[in-house]
Amino acid sequence: MTAIRHAAIVGSGPSGFYAAEALLNALPDIVIDMFERLPTPYGLVRSGVAPDHPKLKQVTLVFDKIMQSKRLNFLGNVEIGTDLSLDALRDAYDVVVLAYGASTDRKMGIRGEELENSHSATEFVGWYNGHPDFRDCKFDLSQEVAVVVGHGNVAADVSRILLQPCDNLRHTDIAAHALEVLAESRIREVHLVGRRGPVQAKFTSRELRGLGSIPQCVVVAHGDAVPVNPACEAELADRTNLNALQNVEFFRGLRGTVSKDASRKLVFHFCVSPERLDGEAGRVKRAVFRRTTLHGQPFEQAAVPTEELFAIDCGLVLSSIGYWGQPLEGLPFDFRRGIVPNRKGRVECSGAPVDGLYVTGWLKRGPTGIIGTNRADSIETVQQILDDLPRRAPRVRGRRQLLLDSLSLRNIRAVGLHDWLAIDVAERAGGMKAGKPREKLTRVTEMIDLVTRNVREAPDCCCASAG
Ligand SMILES: Cc1cc2nc3c(=O)[nH]c(=O)nc-3n(C[C@H](O)[C@H](O)[C@H](O)COP(=O)(O)OP(=O)(O)OC[C@H]3O[C@@H](n4cnc5c(N)ncnc54)[C@H](O)[C@@H]3O)c2cc1C
Repeated sequence: MTAIRHAAIVGSGPSGFYAAEALLNALPDIVIDMFERLPTPYGLVRSGVAPDHPKLKQVTLVFDKIMQSKRLNFLGNVEIGTDLSLDALRDAYDVVVLAYGASTDRKMGIRGEELENSHSATEFVGWYNGHPDFRDCKFDLSQEVAVVVGHGNVAADVSRILLQPCDNLRHTDIAAHALEVLAESRIREVHLVGRRGPVQAKFTSRELRGLGSIPQCVVVAHGDAVPVNPACEAELADRTNLNALQNVEFFRGLRGTVSKDASRKLVFHFCVSPERLDGEAGRVKRAVFRRTTLHGQPFEQAAVPTEELFAIDCGLVLSSIGYWGQPLEGLPFDFRRGIVPNRKGRVECSGAPVDGLYVTGWLKRGPTGIIGTNRADSIETVQQILDDLPRRAPRVRGRRQLLLDSLSLRNIRAVGLHDWLAIDVAERAGGMKAGKPREKLTRVTEMIDLVTRNVREAPDCCCASAG
């Protein structure tokens, strides 16, 4: 038997599942408890990936298989930092792997950001994907013009959802409350603005092409401007920068693609930085931007503000300028980068490794990469755990069971695998009626009611037990 018997993973997004898979494969005796603050697994695959990208969500089949392992206990509806402290977890488990992602958004930090109908893309994405935290957000889509700040894939997703004919979303797993509001949406024009140029835009070219094929939608670059200076040319000449080259080709091709019967419009703006939002009666009326110019060496160009301002009259602003991790009490944290300081996944405090504590996914490297990137990332983290094995002394046994027992003593209803499967079945059944893959439950209370009823009606059905 190894010195590691019990591991805790915090978070059930892709990085949590991939870490579980690697640990289960490497250590035949290990038992893993996977703590998740929501009653539902999958992290941003459920609450981030756009509803009109169903193929990408099929990765949950891989996660389901991992969850079926008898050596993995899913413990949903348990928030580390609130329901259990990190210290208690470290005391009870041989290793703790933090995989709880980067759930908050960066603020633009400009005047007027707090006005009504100025939101973060995080809220909008969470709302249309049925994340319980954003269930009661209100988005007024009665205006014609929206501004989306940011030139990355999340900005592309929210722009596409705003401009997409609603019928294209009806048969997706979009939350019912969002579909209802989007069906009445009057948004016809979206301005997608970025601080730097087309070469530095972070869209993957696949996402960008998706924007180019929204039905009845004209896509243009503002003033037909696709600014490319000599340093940008040097960036484009770099063979490893193929994505940027494809993006620039897409932007340059926009001039020829204006269709007459289009009723919607998407406008790209480059080299503009948000300056302030102006309001009327507490609501956004106008977004004011400052033009920037790019200065610096290739791949190090900074957007330098100029004297020139320009404004877009609009009724909705969504900012999408990055996700940000959050610290837990007792956890070293790099506030500059919004990540846990680590070396290849081994958590560090002032450069020294912290015993038994590891990190993976967005919390380890920041909000970059695709779902699959988290697999290699988690394998790297698990390798550090394996490398540390010879140095590990076994812990005092029994504390884990005490910790798990403490949950029910404090009336915290941990959601086990069987409970999640009951939620899953109910959602799929709801979806069948509506012609959707699933109708998501969007309130924690309704999920807990459902699983409680389910256990009462099937008393032999057990929740995830301490293995
Ligand atoms: C809007 C959006 C769209 C995206 N679209 C795509 C796409 O189309 N294709 C693609 O490849 N990638 C996409 N991504 C990226 C992909 O979702 C991420 O790479 C991936 O989800 C990161 O995995 P993670 O496990 O690190 O974090 P997450 O997926 O965020 O998982 C973290 C989990 O931890 C839980 N948690 C948080 N705090 C606690 C706590 N204190 N205690 C217990 N649990 C906690 C969360 O509820 C969550 O379930 C998208 C991302 C976003 C934001």
